[in-house]
Amino acid sequence: MILIEKIEEMKFYIRERKKEGKIIGLVPTMGYLHQGHLALIKKAKEDCEVVVVSIFVNPVQFGRGEDYETYPRDLERDRDLCRREGVNVIFTPRVEEMYPQGYSTFVEVEGKLSSILEGASRPGHFRGVVTVLVKLFNIINPDYSYFGEKDYQQVLVVKKMVKDLNFNIQIIVLPTIREEDGLAISSRNSYLNKEERKAATILYRSLVAAKEQIKRGERNPHSLISFMKNLIEKEPLAHIDYIAVVNPKTLEEIEKIDKKALLALAVKIGETRLIDNMKIEI
Ligand code: AMP
Repeated sequence: MILIEKIEEMKFYIRERKKEGKIIGLVPTMGYLHQGHLALIKKAKEDCEVVVVSIFVNPVQFGRGEDYETYPRDLERDRDLCRREGVNVIFTPRVEEMYPQGYSTFVEVEGKLSSILEGASRPGHFRGVVTVLVKLFNIINPDYSYFGEKDYQQVLVVKKMVKDLNFNIQIIVLPTIREEDGLAISSRNSYLNKEERKAATILYRSLVAAKEQIKRGERNPHSLISFMKNLIEKEPLAHIDYIAVVNPKTLEEIEKIDKKALLALAVKIGETRLIDNMKIEI
């Protein structure tokens, strides 16, 4: 496994592999790798001859007052994990090279898809995500790129960008990997103290309870949201950002649950903002 920092070196490496006709897979991450990331890497290893894992805490996708500075970082540990998975390249560009002084080009998926839910709570977030991905896609030119369903809205936004900008990249989406008690694994879980960690299970528990209500015949999204709200509010460390019952393709609110729906929520546990979602099929 090699570690590449320089953009030109990364491009050169890829040019050489392309000459050899190799299939290239990219797993974009912000590092502090966990089982969720490793699931994406394992799938990439199955599909591709060359697997690149990018590790880049992307400043432009963090809003003011968010956790860019304190976001967990441990390159040594990430390196070991990637080596064990048979990753070919870790790409860790420097912020100053990705966004040099005078940098001024940003890519935005306009419209509702990126302005509701996470987009509403974190203005500019998807603009930052999409911009860094366009840069990574141009540098690495992968055949496949891997994303987790945990960031469900991100997947839809990325797929739209890939389609609109005619990238020849297959976006592969994998299910959310969870801890034994259901908590969706996230680098941000490391912020939680013992008490908060326990409280954080309320996200998954409320999704499961809502699904059960639907199984029992509940079809009204508003009643379902109230039901989840009541459950979550019983947890003193939890503060709801949003709870939504939406169309899984458009993320628009629905008036009745029939066939397919997505339950999505963002909840602060203490100071840590967590998200989760669950697809429902009747
Ligand atoms: P991040 O490092 O948080 O930006 O995540 C990098 C990629 O890993 C994104 O596509 C995430 O959706 C995915 N990911 C993060 N956590 C999980 C998880 N628990 N299960 C599956 N994929 C995940």
